[in-house]
Amino acid sequence: MNIYADNAATTKMSKTAINAMLPYLDSVYGNPSSLHSVGQRAAEALASARERVAKVLGCTDREIYFTSGGSESDNQAILTAAAIGERKNKRHIISSSIEHHAVLHTLDKLKKRGFEITLLDAHENGIVSPAELEAAIRPDTVLVTIMYANNEIGSIQPISEIGRICREHGVLFHTDAVQAVGHIKVDVVKDNIDMLSLSAHKFHGPKGIGVLYVKKGIVITNLIEGGAQERGKRAGTENVPAIMGLAASLEEAAENIDKNSAKLIPLRDKLIKGILEIPHTILNGDPVKRLPGNVNVCFEGIEGESLLLLLDSKGICASSGSACTSGSLDPSHVLLAIGRPHDVAHGSLRLSLSEENTEEEVDYMINAIKDVVAYLRNMSPVWRDLQEGKKKYVIQ
Ligand SMILES: *Cc1c(COP(=O)(O)O)cnc(C)c1O
Repeated sequence: MNIYADNAATTKMSKTAINAMLPYLDSVYGNPSSLHSVGQRAAEALASARERVAKVLGCTDREIYFTSGGSESDNQAILTAAAIGERKNKRHIISSSIEHHAVLHTLDKLKKRGFEITLLDAHENGIVSPAELEAAIRPDTVLVTIMYANNEIGSIQPISEIGRICREHGVLFHTDAVQAVGHIKVDVVKDNIDMLSLSAHKFHGPKGIGVLYVKKGIVITNLIEGGAQERGKRAGTENVPAIMGLAASLEEAAENIDKNSAKLIPLRDKLIKGILEIPHTILNGDPVKRLPGNVNVCFEGIEGESLLLLLDSKGICASSGSACTSGSLDPSHVLLAIGRPHDVAHGSLRLSLSEENTEEEVDYMINAIKDVVAYLRNMSPVWRDLQEGKKKYVIQ
């Protein structure tokens, strides 16, 4: 069996998205800035894609900026708020300890520019407290940037409460909604979101294309200087084929949110229940306030890397932590932030399902994981020490 359960890293493109792109890779290849008819056909397509994206998000087309993806959108949103803060002499930003590195590393850079960063605790369930957020707001706070849903442990933040608090205090609110858009309902107006990042390849669209939503009235800082594309805020010839793929996959995902969740949540919960039958195993993230396709667990006495390789040999594509940390020896900053000790965090497994996964695959995965965990524990000196009582179990 070949099972792809790493949809939080990236997704397979949908047929709808591929078909929406094809004409723009072939006959409609013009540059939208060209005045001739070939260019103007591309310009019209671009304008219509912008309107369609705006409609899904509940905003206007003038509030949509196409970028190269989630990372660029996060960078641009935060650097935009930082520039506004510098003009107003406000150099305090609030975020959380479980953000994506596109956010955390940008904030690190701002520290060197004189900003003070408060990272809110995400607690054991991976969810920040609106009361703690409100208490952290100061007169010099310019921005709150909190992700909509976490890419590793799937926890969904109380975004509408956070948005309301930020609006009441006159603080800008950005959310990295890369894992949320297309999977759960997002409404930038109702949630009082000032800036939002999304990325097409997380909802069956193409890679290398994303959106930054910026509420009308906020002056954006460019990261890339050059031509006047994206109303002068993001230079470079527009990636029209990818933008068409993004618009099509976004509409398709948004239309199917209820249907897909109704399918995914029971599969996710069956998978979690099956895996938790393995002794000394714990679920990471909130059991309920959780992305429909996300499963993340820690096994005591196991190395995540070896687990992944053995699962791969059984045809299962999974991940341990995020794709970004998978190449390094450091355990996930998210698992450490929710209180998992180093060695426990090393024994983590993330399975992220899409609506293409089946119940048969879930059953196969549960059995395969049980076998592989037993096999690895059997050869693990740490596991032997735990069983002989020389070391105490962290996970009961
Ligand atoms: C994938 C991801 C990103 C990065 O998006 P890219 O389009 O790959 O740059 C940022 N934030 C979160 C939460 C993500 O899951």
